[in-house]
Amino acid sequence: MKILIIEDEYSLADAIAETLKKENFTTNIITDGEEGENEALTNVYDLILLDIMLPNKDGFKILNDLRKEKVDTPIIILTAKSEINDKLNGLENGADDYITKPFEIREVLARIQVQLRHIEAETQSEAEAEIEAETEVKTKAGIQEGQGSGRLEFRDMVLI
Ligand code: CA
Repeated sequence: MKILIIEDEYSLADAIAETLKKENFTTNIITDGEEGENEALTNVYDLILLDIMLPNKDGFKILNDLRKEKVDTPIIILTAKSEINDKLNGLENGADDYITKPFEIREVLARIQVQLRHIEAETQSEAEAEIEAETEVKTKAGIQEGQGSGRLEFRDMVLI
């Protein structure tokens, strides 16, 4: 599995990459917005971690342009707390999830795994996929029966 990390805070990007490597992911770190977008357009990744405040091109513009170019790779936005209002904006623009900084690296890993499971699930029959995703999310987050399902609830649980 190949993950593209577009993040100008190199130490943070590197810490994420180190954790992902331990889980057998291949990573590529790009610290510039424009270069990051070009990379996402040129090479195929399984998932993209995208910062918002980036040199030369911000994450929302990158997200917009990638979706316009029909890049349907799952994208998880990394956003600072001060940009909290941008979150909904991000999801409306085609992001699959977002994580608020500061975060724990293991949270990033968990969100990535949720997104990648969604992709796997899509290759199965839809009904089967629904049930599996629901079960996995509940098990993972320790959510009690009846409290809902899906990634939004899982995300909210993690943020608590
Ligand atoms: Ca940044």
